[in-house]
Amino acid sequence: MRTLLIVGNWKMNKTASEAARFIGELSRHLTKTPTGVELVVAPPFTALESVGRVLGSESPIQLGAQNLFWETQGAYTGEISAPMLKDLGCRYVILGHSERRTLFGERGDGIRKKLQAAFAHGLRPILCIGESLTQREAGSTDDVLAQQIHESLAGFAAEALETLTVAYEPIWAIGTGRSATTEQAVAAHQTIRAVLAATASPIVAERTRILYGGSVTTQNITSLLSSDQVDGALIGGACLEVNSFATIAQLASTTRSIGV
Ligand code: PEP
Repeated sequence: MRTLLIVGNWKMNKTASEAARFIGELSRHLTKTPTGVELVVAPPFTALESVGRVLGSESPIQLGAQNLFWETQGAYTGEISAPMLKDLGCRYVILGHSERRTLFGERGDGIRKKLQAAFAHGLRPILCIGESLTQREAGSTDDVLAQQIHESLAGFAAEALETLTVAYEPIWAIGTGRSATTEQAVAAHQTIRAVLAATASPIVAERTRILYGGSVTTQNITSLLSSDQVDGALIGGACLEVNSFATIAQLASTTRSIGV
């Protein structure tokens, strides 16, 4: 049984002090800790320390980062390594987000090296994959997903992938208000699971959590989680407001515990 995972990707939003205030409010709001759901927030690098301090060691909310560089240390101006993130209390790291692929030229081989660094330093990677609208309309969604998995996971032994999470994020749904339908998400997740079974192993495919991301809101989360193919959500816009992120967390908890 895979535990639901709800991750808030703050992107380039909130200063360190805004982030600390936000997380304090969120923690007060979540008076009843949602059960059966893991909650993660991924603030910008500059706010990891302040958010981690407010969360402390007892919080049900875990800390994640939005990226890392594969080297451990050295002359890599502007980069942040896996040990630096671990030291700040990060448990998760988002890798290969489509904004990094599109705006910063990230490609399969670099993402593979970042995955390797995450595994090596005990960070749980959330590998983002997804097709563009043109690719979907051309009927190549499954091929695109398979290729992104192959190039990122090439050379990993099945045992190395124990802490892998995959996030299916169709590019056309990110920040557009146009979420994939539950049926589209489920179909993509089934493809991803089949590709994981073939490239890694059936055990990896069964164990790996596959999140949906792309215009998730309080309105569509219950439907998206109604399939046991969808193991949680990666949330952008809706995680920036205390109310909406907390409501999504509560709805996720309710959805699974009553088996909608
Ligand atoms: C994202 O960027 O990962 C994302 C899913 O954004 P949004 O929820 O705003 O579509």
